[in-house]
Amino acid sequence: MVHESFLEQVDRMFDKAAAHTPHPPGLLKQIKVCNSVYHMTFPLKRDDGSIETIQAYRAEHSHHKLPVKGGIRYAPSVNEDEVMALAALMTYKCAIVNVPFGGAKGGVMIDRRQYSEAEIERVTRRYTYELIRKNFIGPGVDVPAPDYGTGPREMAWILDTYNTIANDKLDALACVTGKPVGQGGIRGRTEATGRGVFFGIREACRFAGDMEALGLEPGLEGKKIVVQGLGNVGYHAAKFVQEGGAVLVGLAEYEGAIYNPGGLDVDAVMAHRRETGSILDYPGAENLPRSADALELPCDILIPAALEGQITRENARNIQAKIIAEAANGPVTADADTILLERGVFIIPDVYLNAGGVTVSYFEWLRNLSHVRFGRMSRRFEESMHQQLLRAVEEATGKKFSPETVARIAHGASEEDLVNSGLEETMIEAYNEIREIARRHDVDLRTAAFINAINKVAVSYLEMGIFP
Ligand code: NAD
Repeated sequence: MVHESFLEQVDRMFDKAAAHTPHPPGLLKQIKVCNSVYHMTFPLKRDDGSIETIQAYRAEHSHHKLPVKGGIRYAPSVNEDEVMALAALMTYKCAIVNVPFGGAKGGVMIDRRQYSEAEIERVTRRYTYELIRKNFIGPGVDVPAPDYGTGPREMAWILDTYNTIANDKLDALACVTGKPVGQGGIRGRTEATGRGVFFGIREACRFAGDMEALGLEPGLEGKKIVVQGLGNVGYHAAKFVQEGGAVLVGLAEYEGAIYNPGGLDVDAVMAHRRETGSILDYPGAENLPRSADALELPCDILIPAALEGQITRENARNIQAKIIAEAANGPVTADADTILLERGVFIIPDVYLNAGGVTVSYFEWLRNLSHVRFGRMSRRFEESMHQQLLRAVEEATGKKFSPETVARIAHGASEEDLVNSGLEETMIEAYNEIREIARRHDVDLRTAAFINAINKVAVSYLEMGIFP
């Protein structure tokens, strides 16, 4: 069998779903193709004075809505095909969670562990400069965010570089999301993707009939979970499912994997890793021979949260999980997807499940453009209304509420409350939409998610009057 690239796999998933839609081939092609790709090569002066050439990309998959949006990845595996595949997934993801952006993705081909902080800063600033030069960044044009290998610090450098050069000062803060809170970021963005993964899994587990078909009880409580990759997404997903009552039985990082059927505390494992440099030899847990062995552990839910192409046709038959919750982008190859579906494994697809990041990025972008923190105008007002209501009830009943009850009820929503509530609503609503489509078309959730995305993007083009 010929090797299929990441983009070819995404396109194959698209074609499978497109067959369930009524759109003409020309429109489907327009939705599927990548609108523009910028491949840049620039020099990096290393700390030792030597010069290295850096390859970097930005792909803007679909301009049907502006700005386009997508993370920036720093990894040695970055290439044009990967960036284009991830940009396409972003278009579909935004449509699925009703975030009004087209999809994009950026990538810099570097292994960040091999570079000093100063070198990473130089790369980030030069990359941003290249994006500005070609009009591939801007609040109404293309708005990057963190992805694998990048975080708030890189976003702050991007903002600073943009601010130095670009002219649209009033809205410049909205040129990038995932920034530190002091630099125009929004509370709750860092943990948003992991929190969204938790909301998505919890919602999937809520349906008794769906769980029964897998031989599982409804609800997250007590479900045995394995997480691969303890970075931003994996760590937060692990933390929230643990708080939600699930039991973490296996954890994997690039240096190895650990297993304890009795349960692992993710914060304690992370503290052990900070102390020893590795998750291995964690007290009470068994070390697995290879990190990838974690994928094949007995569990109810497997959460791959590292990189694409982890579950392939080579290991798909060994997966014991009943549910695969795709926190990473593209962790299951198209071939593996077919094998797993035949085996009755329930897959919650990436294109829906990790959309929490872009959802909260959207909130951050709105906050930056409105120049006001969510809740600032209403928090005190809500608080005083709640207090008055409680007082009226006390007067009417002659009973007094305890100070704890007053504190619990009589407070106004903070920015974080609003962000988390908006995220929860988005993830629940989107899950129910794709579950409904899956039932109507008798297809798996991934195909349903793609059908939903295609139909929504198609509406944009049809409303533009470009297609009959
Ligand atoms: P990250 O760099 O913060 O963390 C990734 C972690 O995975 C690192 O700790 C790395 O050491 C580990 N890892 C790499 N290869 C591994 C392997 N083979 N086995 C075990 N661990 C391995 O990256 P992230 O932002 O958490 O992104 C992870 C995935 O989630 C990516 O696919 C990314 O595209 C996707 N994603 C991220 C966001 C976001 O907001 N950051 C949003 C949507 C999707």
